[in-house]
Amino acid sequence: MSHEGIRILSEEEQARESAENRPLSRSAITPEKVRVLLTEGKGLEIDWADGHRSAWSFAWLREACPCATCVEQRKIEGRRPGQPKPKPAQLLPMYSPPAKPSSAHGVGRYAIEFAWTDGHRSGIYSWEYLRRNCRCSECRFANAETKGSPN
Ligand SMILES: [Zn+2]
Ligand SMILES: [Zn+2]
Repeated sequence: MSHEGIRILSEEEQARESAENRPLSRSAITPEKVRVLLTEGKGLEIDWADGHRSAWSFAWLREACPCATCVEQRKIEGRRPGQPKPKPAQLLPMYSPPAKPSSAHGVGRYAIEFAWTDGHRSGIYSWEYLRRNCRCSECRFANAETKGSPN
């Protein structure tokens, strides 16, 4: 009897196996230290319990807002979390100041929330979401490789 058939994964199963959905250990999504570099305007840094360190710029975080409205908007525009909106074709583009939060605070024990200076404040960034979107070259390389994307 051939077992080859069970090796064939449906598209859905393949997606589930992709880097975005790979299971993370508890220590990988448990922050040891969280630094919000508000005054420097730099971004967010997290030292994880598994020894990994992640950092995100505020600009990236704003464009990766996980609220339903922003997720829907990105889906329509075909943008990945953190990917900026394409610049409008205007002769004199309006100056938009870089995204910055006016405040940040923890949500329970699982997430962080930002109040952005543009008035938006619906996004709740779970530790898991952040870890899955770590910007370090190691994680980005691993994600691109598993997804088979050249970028
Ligand atoms: Zn949002
Ligand atoms: Zn990383």
